[in-house]
Amino acid sequence: MSKPRVAFFEFTSCEGCQLTVIDSLQTHIELLDVIEIVQFREAMSEKGEDYQIAFIEGSCSRPGDEPKLREIREQADLVIALGACAHLGGINTIRNWQDQEDVRRYVYGDKADWYETYPARPISAVIPVDAVIPGCPIDRHEFVTIVKQLLQGRMPRIPDYPLCIECKLKENVCVYLRGKVCLGPITRAGCDAICPTYGDGCEGCRGLISNPNIESLKTVLEEHGLSMEEVRAKMTMFLSYQMMELEREAAGNGD
Ligand code: SF4
Ligand code: SF4
Ligand code: SF4
Repeated sequence: MSKPRVAFFEFTSCEGCQLTVIDSLQTHIELLDVIEIVQFREAMSEKGEDYQIAFIEGSCSRPGDEPKLREIREQADLVIALGACAHLGGINTIRNWQDQEDVRRYVYGDKADWYETYPARPISAVIPVDAVIPGCPIDRHEFVTIVKQLLQGRMPRIPDYPLCIECKLKENVCVYLRGKVCLGPITRAGCDAICPTYGDGCEGCRGLISNPNIESLKTVLEEHGLSMEEVRAKMTMFLSYQMMELEREAAGNGD
């Protein structure tokens, strides 16, 4: 039986999630016995276009990304968003709050006219995505688990409960009690609460749980001394696209 053919693609990203994949494959080399990687620019020169599973890293941040994304979608049976940039839009979406022309000139200076850009978006805003592997970067164990699930014909299921649950199971002292702040109550678990475990607040890189109580968390953040501006900065490091969508929805509902 032929092995499933897998390809990796990157759009606007730092390629850190692909590096994590390479790292995972080094410690789970057995995966290479059961899949055939036909395209992975970060790791090999070959560029096969016949693949069934596509992992996409990075957000869509320019019109020219869209035809390539549609081409991948047309070819692949399964499209998996790899990491926060692809899943959420991620840190690339911080610039969505600013004038895109200013951003372009700031980054590219007098060569700005050579480059196209528009507000960054998650991959799912352009093409249907079958599954996501959250995180910035992805969790290597979760990547391996999800590949195994895909090979078994099962659709991956990622946690949809708050990070606080994982954090409490680890018996961490809540960082709020140490004078720090944390987005754990609204953030999807699955990273083993790694930031609070090492004494830092969660920044929300795994995205929002279903029905997050954002307003309540904003109040908590303000009660812990953050100004409105700081609350906004905290909530929009990885989640600008989602926050803008929520604002648009609220405006549409006349709230
Ligand atoms: S999610 Fe983070 S680590 Fe992964 S590509 Fe984006 S910025 Fe890099
Ligand atoms: S440190 Fe963060 S994740 Fe942990 S319990 Fe406190 S708020 Fe929740
Ligand atoms: S604790 Fe929060 S910011 Fe840190 S890895 Fe987990 S989800 Fe991301």
